[in-house]
Amino acid sequence: MKNYRIVNIRTTIKSDPAISILIIYTGGTFGMVYDEDGSLTPFNFSKVLDKIPEVMSLELKLTVISFPEPIDSSNIDFSHWQEIASIISENYRNFDGFVILHGTDTMAYTASALSYMLDGLNKPVILTGAQIPIGHIRSDARENLITALEMASAQHLHKPIIREVCIYFNYVLLRGNRAQKVKSSTFAAFESQNYPVLAESGISIEYNISNLYKAQKPKKLNIREQFDSNVTVLRLFPGITPEVVKCTLEIAGLKGVVLETYGSGNTMSHKWFTQILQRAIKSGIIVYNVSQCSGGEVIQGRYETSKKLKKIGVVSGGDITTEAAVTKLMFLLGNENDLNLIKDKLSKPIAGEMDL
Ligand code: ASP
Repeated sequence: MKNYRIVNIRTTIKSDPAISILIIYTGGTFGMVYDEDGSLTPFNFSKVLDKIPEVMSLELKLTVISFPEPIDSSNIDFSHWQEIASIISENYRNFDGFVILHGTDTMAYTASALSYMLDGLNKPVILTGAQIPIGHIRSDARENLITALEMASAQHLHKPIIREVCIYFNYVLLRGNRAQKVKSSTFAAFESQNYPVLAESGISIEYNISNLYKAQKPKKLNIREQFDSNVTVLRLFPGITPEVVKCTLEIAGLKGVVLETYGSGNTMSHKWFTQILQRAIKSGIIVYNVSQCSGGEVIQGRYETSKKLKKIGVVSGGDITTEAAVTKLMFLLGNENDLNLIKDKLSKPIAGEMDL
């Protein structure tokens, strides 16, 4: 294992706690401090712990593995997803649940990527963070961490209640690959427009059992960790020029594009547009249709303006988010060779990220 900092937290509990949770600290506002010029920078976890003495009285066996250099999540790339997945895999048998402390900016991307990578996951993996650093009186970090730990340790008949990758933030638990960061100025940073909340924390924690990911037949955890980032996102807007579309689809080495379309998957019906797309698809580039609306779904063919897309081989992303779509494209391109198989998997859920 890499040079991670490992901290075993000594809780004040007398008995030996039955449930063990591994916290993976990657950075983010949660543990940031202001530097001399007034900007927020990540700092190390041992100092973070001093600010949350409540953690010491939880009836849990807690271990923290910290990235050697905690990062602002704007700097996340797939090498960090690989690190997180391998920490989970190496420690999978020894812990009942995992809590990942992560910046909010790219949390939905990391949650989506992990949901694809952790094939056969049968334990909770909960990402959380904060909008105000833990050192501040009005910080949301404390509540977010404590409840994420409670949810990660929740069991029914000695079996975990949650068996998927989730985001816990501001009293709601969301499916990770359905969540999007929607606000940077309030505590309610995340929403999941196309999938119900998995749990709500109030005086008690209410689980929405019927919407939790159903355990597959017991499988071994199998990490699939390759990514291919030869992808891009092309967001349409009225007046987009043929040059912009052409240049984007002719990027050297490009293998896939998430096309952010209007409403239920509509695009302009100009001939030049269809021709550029068709040429790209014929050359082996995957075009994945995702709506710019966060609620609702792509239905190719509902309008005249999207009928052609289906005909030329654009793949519909249904109600998937852009975060889940771009990571899915990178993941499938990294792990599969057969173009038709990739397209088929893009059109169906592989980890609860879309409905059919
Ligand atoms: N820039 C920070 C990050 O994503 C924002 C946050 O954590 O809320 O790391």
